[in-house]
Amino acid sequence: MNVITKNKVKQTGRSFLFTIGLFGSRETIIYITTFSVAVKFLTFCLDLEDQLAAMRKKAADALPGSSWMPFEINPNLPPETADIVIVGGGVVGWSIAYWLKQKERLPRGMRVLVVERDPSVSGPVVTPAPPTLNPSSVSQQEHLGVMNEDPVDLQFNHSGYLFLASVSCYAGLENEGWFDPWSLLNAFRRKAISLGAIQCFGEVTDFKYTTHIRTTADEEQLETRRIKSVKVQMPNSMEYQPVECAIVVNAAGAYSGKLAEMLGIGRGPQDSIYGLPVPVEPRKRYVYVVHCPDGPGLDCPLLIDYSGVYFRREGLGGNYISGISPEEAEEPDTSNLEVDHQFFEDKVWPKLAQRVPAFEKLKVTSAWAGFYDYNTFDQNGIIGIHPLISNMYFATGFSGHGLQHSPAVGRAVAELILDGGFKTLNLKRMSFSRIFAQEPMLEQNIV
Ligand SMILES: Cc1cc2nc3c(=O)[nH]c(=O)nc-3n(C[C@H](O)[C@H](O)[C@H](O)COP(=O)(O)OP(=O)(O)OC[C@H]3O[C@@H](n4cnc5c(N)ncnc54)[C@H](O)[C@@H]3O)c2cc1C
Repeated sequence: MNVITKNKVKQTGRSFLFTIGLFGSRETIIYITTFSVAVKFLTFCLDLEDQLAAMRKKAADALPGSSWMPFEINPNLPPETADIVIVGGGVVGWSIAYWLKQKERLPRGMRVLVVERDPSVSGPVVTPAPPTLNPSSVSQQEHLGVMNEDPVDLQFNHSGYLFLASVSCYAGLENEGWFDPWSLLNAFRRKAISLGAIQCFGEVTDFKYTTHIRTTADEEQLETRRIKSVKVQMPNSMEYQPVECAIVVNAAGAYSGKLAEMLGIGRGPQDSIYGLPVPVEPRKRYVYVVHCPDGPGLDCPLLIDYSGVYFRREGLGGNYISGISPEEAEEPDTSNLEVDHQFFEDKVWPKLAQRVPAFEKLKVTSAWAGFYDYNTFDQNGIIGIHPLISNMYFATGFSGHGLQHSPAVGRAVAELILDGGFKTLNLKRMSFSRIFAQEPMLEQNIV
């Protein structure tokens, strides 16, 4: 309400009171009193905003040098309601958002909110090793284009995947290669937002849910939960916003098991169904960039040695990236993303040099670490609803393959939510059923 309007209200109220005061009867005086209280209240409300602004200024002046602004209304709060909340703004979360918006029948009919706790990331913690891509995935570059913006460039490098095995050797199919993970994530994000998806930076720290007792086919009583709202804690603030929603998607990567714990999954007695955790945890992986002018050169595919070590060309200047997954017993600490350089000396370099003697003379130029969303049960993705939470869909546990799976996973989850079942690819085998039945579908080609 601007100043002119406020003054007008005050003035009109006062002149009205003055006129009635001159000519009014007893009943009129009672009306006047009621009316004058109403005007005062209205004036108070109208002044409130000014007074709050003055208080804010006073408090900020009392804290010179501080950029902290008390009582500031946070413009970055998520909306109070959403149809679907996706927790995790990584490549999988944004792919799901894109497919949901792309498939919705009524344009902008569905409010899809993506919540990401790390404002600097909204994606994988590191630039991972190169994923394979087939021609149909490459066509994503066309689908993800946004009008009046630069075309999507995934920086696709056409080259092979070569897995070496101790008794046999096989090369990848045609049209494989690697691409830039950030470009794919940003392409999904940009397109999803252009279609109306909402992005919010904040951490999901809690849920509100209702409980229901269901009877199973074996006449057992089962308590299931239905999420009513998601609590989004704003970054560097005590402020939070509950978001009421119909559906939640758990795309929280390495932390999806922790998110499920907030709903009691894995927290019940060990022999109960609630005692079975979502078997996904962070596993730290190092990637080393090495320089070796005499290395295998331009024709070098992404080579995965049977020892577990992998390498591929990085650009055209004699650089390569390389790494290996540690033994189960030597899994590094996941409380930080520090790189263990000794690990390269002891575990990676000797194997590299054994495969390509020129690598004896390499020089490490840089390195980074990131977390796999590691599925400890069978190192495969988990896609679908959890039987104990009737409105949370999972897309997690890809154990180092999440990037290359993300386009298909996004579409699969959107189909589950919007069509009630898988339509394009039947991914039923990736559901929670295999975990409850204790029937692992082991992924053996984890790099
Ligand atoms: C070194 C390395 C190499 C890799 N190489 C390959 C490869 O060659 N090919 C391949 O396909 N994949 C590869 N990957 C794996 C790939 O990066 C992951 O599988 C993929 O990024 C998973 O995507 P995601 O969206 O599921 O999870 P993430 O990228 O981990 O995103 C999940 C997001 O959820 C957010 N989050 C978590 N909890 C909350 C919460 N409570 N509230 C709000 N936000 C939350 C996190 O901040 C995170 O950004 C590699 C990974 C690493 C670490």
